[in-house]
Amino acid sequence: MLTCDVAVVGTGGVGSAAVAYLARAGANVIGLDRYSPPHNHGSSHGQTRVIRMAYFEHPDYVPLLRHAYREWHDLEQTTGRKLYFPTGVLQIGPEAGEVIAGTLRSAQQHQLAIQRYAFDDITREFPGVVPPEACVGILERDAGYLLVAECISAYLDQARQHGAILKNDTPIKSWTRNEDTFELQTADEVIHAKQLVICGGAWATQLLADLNVPMTILRKHLYWYANDAAAYTQASSFPVFLIETLGGIYYGFPQIDRQGVKLARHDGGEPIASAQQQSQQEDAADRASVETFTRNHLPLLSQDLVHHEACMYTVTPDQHFLVGTHPEHDGLHFVAGLSGHGFKFASALGQILCDLAMTGQTSVPIDFLSPRRFF
Ligand SMILES: Cc1cc2nc3c(=O)[nH]c(=O)nc-3n(C[C@H](O)[C@H](O)[C@H](O)COP(=O)(O)OP(=O)(O)OC[C@H]3O[C@@H](n4cnc5c(N)ncnc54)[C@H](O)[C@@H]3O)c2cc1C
Repeated sequence: MLTCDVAVVGTGGVGSAAVAYLARAGANVIGLDRYSPPHNHGSSHGQTRVIRMAYFEHPDYVPLLRHAYREWHDLEQTTGRKLYFPTGVLQIGPEAGEVIAGTLRSAQQHQLAIQRYAFDDITREFPGVVPPEACVGILERDAGYLLVAECISAYLDQARQHGAILKNDTPIKSWTRNEDTFELQTADEVIHAKQLVICGGAWATQLLADLNVPMTILRKHLYWYANDAAAYTQASSFPVFLIETLGGIYYGFPQIDRQGVKLARHDGGEPIASAQQQSQQEDAADRASVETFTRNHLPLLSQDLVHHEACMYTVTPDQHFLVGTHPEHDGLHFVAGLSGHGFKFASALGQILCDLAMTGQTSVPIDFLSPRRFF
């Protein structure tokens, strides 16, 4: 039987940060994962993740993002690894649409630096981009992308260096509360923990079923297209982009290597009943919609698909996260339902989970993410 102060179930995007913060804080921590992170079975793979501060989803995320930016910077400093690439993020859409109106709202409320572009200026400033009819643009310069697997590896290495025990290929079959201790059942042992942290990604629908918040798992697709247009390369300062069209919201990254330009559709997605049903199978309709988008709005990009990956969003009813302490188990802390936009926050969320497990509270404002909003 293994015992520890804190057990972290799931050491992917968020859990890798949580074990690192806990180990750094001196906790006797065990991190468990059903695979061997970083891996491509969950929600944290596919090379890159967008990070931006003027958050169209809601201004309440901005304080959390300030924290996340600081912590990513700290991780780069302490590990000597380059993880964040501030290419800028260009957002384009109708003035009153979800993306532009939401971005302006966050920027105004939190005095964030952004640059606005009228429809006619977009193609002149960003050759190779054809905006949808009557749309405007916003560029946020201190924004860009994170290297997703490298971030996870950096946190896991840090966790090991500070004494965390990391058990890979060890799925937790069940957890129970027995007086002041959590008992975690693996295939061949029971682990006793004083505090339990659950960051199970798409498996949260099972691990946190008793939260009674419905979460939908969506299969999502990432595509890399061959590119020989200098306009779309990081070397020529092409930014990360997110474009709201009448047909959906699409986003992509400048070309950073031989795999070409990575693109995806943010809205839509195919619901699947459980994370076990995830597969890497392509979706012809999704791919066709991405290729229609590129023909219309990135016309210099080739249609030669170089690589495809499938990934999962775990979506709450309002598409906002679930973060906090379990209403019925005061030693159980969780992050779940990141709804397809959570990786950029992983550094801050890891620290919040550490605060909750070590002290029962956090100074970071997370009340708006409490599952109590659904009760
Ligand atoms: C295609 C795609 C694009 C995205 N783009 C962006 C973006 O640009 N910017 C952004 O901020 N976010 C983005 N996201 C969202 C972001 O990537 C996710 O919100 C985030 O990575 C999820 O992290 P997680 O720790 O919750 O899940 P994961 O990283 O999947 O980690 C969960 C871990 O739990 C483990 N686990 C599950 N069950 C058990 C068990 N029973 N026992 C032990 N271990 C278990 C799993 O093996 C896994 O390693 C995107 C997501 C996808 C799918």
